[in-house]
Order: sequence, then C-alpha cells, then structure tokens
Amino acid sequence: MAAPITGTLLLSEDRPGLEKAATIIKRGGLVAFPTETVYGLGADATDASAVKRIFAAKGRPADNPLIVHLSDPDQLKTVARTVPDRAYILTEKFWPGPLSLIFPRSDKIPALVSAGLPSVAVRMPDHRTALDLISYSGVPIAAPSANRSGRPSPTTYRHVLEDLAGRIEAVIKSAPCPLGLESTVLDLTGEQPVILRPGGVSKEELEAALGSPVAVAGIKSAPGRPLAPGMKYRHYSPRAALVLVTGPPEKRFALIKALALYFRNRALKVGYLNTALRGRLEPGIGPEELAVTLYSSLRRMDRQGVDIILAEEIDLAGLGLAVMNRLKKAATRILRAGSG
Ligand code: AMP
Ligand code: MG
Repeated sequence: MAAPITGTLLLSEDRPGLEKAATIIKRGGLVAFPTETVYGLGADATDASAVKRIFAAKGRPADNPLIVHLSDPDQLKTVARTVPDRAYILTEKFWPGPLSLIFPRSDKIPALVSAGLPSVAVRMPDHRTALDLISYSGVPIAAPSANRSGRPSPTTYRHVLEDLAGRIEAVIKSAPCPLGLESTVLDLTGEQPVILRPGGVSKEELEAALGSPVAVAGIKSAPGRPLAPGMKYRHYSPRAALVLVTGPPEKRFALIKALALYFRNRALKVGYLNTALRGRLEPGIGPEELAVTLYSSLRRMDRQGVDIILAEEIDLAGLGLAVMNRLKKAATRILRAGSG
C-alpha cells in the first residue's frame, strides 16, 4: 500500500521522471499520465488495492470498469483469457491507437478492474510517454480518464491538477493530448462486433478493416438497463447547463440566436461551443478540430463563470459519432429546432 498522499508531484516526461513514476506505480500508487486520447489515471492493473484507490480518488462508482493499458501487444495474452482471431486484424491495424477491445478477463487481472465483469477492456496507447511508463513499470496499467467522476475528461496536466491535486501521488507534465477524445470501446465477445462507446477510431474504419458490419450500442438497452457499463451516468459535464440544439442547420441557427437573447436578457452568461453564431463552427470545421478542443472549452467556460453553454449538433460521420455522443451525455437539455 502506498504512503498517504500529501501533495501531488509534477514529474517530467524524461527518463528520470518516468522512472520515478514507474516506482510509484510498482508501489501501488496512482500516476496521471498523458495518452493520445485524454490523460489517464494509472495504477498497477494486477494490484487490487492500487486499483481500488483509483475509484476513491475519482469518486468513481464501483460499477464503472477501467481500461487496461499495454506497452506491447504481446502482453494481451496475460490480461485476456482468450483472443479471437479477428482481434489480431484490429490490433495490427489500430494499435498503438485509440481502440479498446473487450476480451474475457484473465485471472491475472482482479475483478475490481472490470467492476466485477467477466470481461476486460484493453488497449495500447499511441503515446511515447505512456508506453515508456508502462514498460518501465513492468505491469499493465489500469486507467480511466484522470478527472473527478462526472467532470469533462482532462486533456492537459493542468486539468488533472484542477480535479485531483492532493488526491493522487503524481502527474506527468506533457503537451496537451493530441486527439482530445477517449478511445472507441469495441466488444468482440459476441458474434458481431459492437461499439459500446464511440471514440477515436471510427465505425467506418473498423468496418473497412474487418470487412463486415459493426453495430453501435444504444445508450440504453431493454427495460432501462445500460448496455455498456458507465453509460448510465451523466458524463463529461461542465458546471454550466449545456443546451444542445439539433435539427436542420438554418433552424438551429435561429433557435440558438433566440436562446442566446433569452438567457442574456436574464443576466445569464452565455458561452458558445460549436455554433455558427459565434464563428466557432466555421462552415467546414471538422469533428477532429471539435474533438481536440471540446473538453478544454467546457472547462474554460466553467472557469469563466459561464451559466449556459449553447452547442449545435454535428454530422455523425467519422469522429462526429463520438463527438455527438459526448455532447449528448454532457447536455442538460437537447432541443430540436423547428419542431413546434
Ligand atoms: P474511461 O476511461 O474513464 O472513459 O472509462 C472506461 C470506459 O470503458 C467505461 O466507462 C466503459 O464504458 C468502458 N469499459 C471498460 N471496461 C469495459 C468492459 N469490461 N465492458 C464494457 N465496457 C467497458
Ligand atoms: Mg472517463
């Protein structure tokens, strides 16, 4: 068990910094580290008491499973009980990268990592610092996003400190995460692959690689039971109320304008996420650009004391599916423009 935490160390991503971080991991401590998606909060995935501390530091419900991070695809054999052949098509093509695959969990990985599920989510991040940390630690690293539960995911080390300073042993200082959005979670345990959470690898890319259709899980399955763990919680949420406007583009624009006026007349501070109104969504801005700034924009507006955030829906192609998934989960209200 790690010593009690007093302060949170800020470590550099050079070799001495990462060796220090690896020592903390090996002793059962918590280290926040950069990946290409978002910052992760890591612990030794084979140590149940270290993993337990992740849930405590984040205030994460115990039924929301973590993702196990590898530095080498060969480690897959130690964390997964069985690996179907089609998984290798995907690991060859997308690892390292933002694709988490679900397998039957091996006995080396405590049940706590998977919130008691018989499965485990695994990925190899495409980030030098993350890979070095995992390999210096000599163990797979279990890591959810390094935010307080329910808050927008962190894409910079400052975001991590905002949420977790004094609650974890260390943060590795690095550049902002290049993708800005979490990995795609793909379930390979059934007959047809199912995207449980859209993310950095698109449905189109997965289908092209597999040469067959991939399903996307709804947010809820039959009688209100969440299909994928973690999906039932309000997520990625700023303190401000986020209003997501859907519908035809011209009608969305008119509704956003009316809403902005309405709220501002009531002395509320209005922030704009991706709307044509404030030029943030210039015609042609891609979901990639929106993804990379999404969480930092939400956090910035919180710091600025924004009361209402207005956002417009975007097209679901490519990364758009993942961006819309996060916007819907962050939203307090979803309004359809032109529906009465
Ligand atoms: P986070 O890294 O904070 O985005 O959390 C990891 C997410 O991965 C969870 O909220 C789940 O949606 C998903 N996940 C992790 N492990 C599993 C699993 N064994 N089965 C299904 N989904 C999983
Ligand atoms: Mg998370």
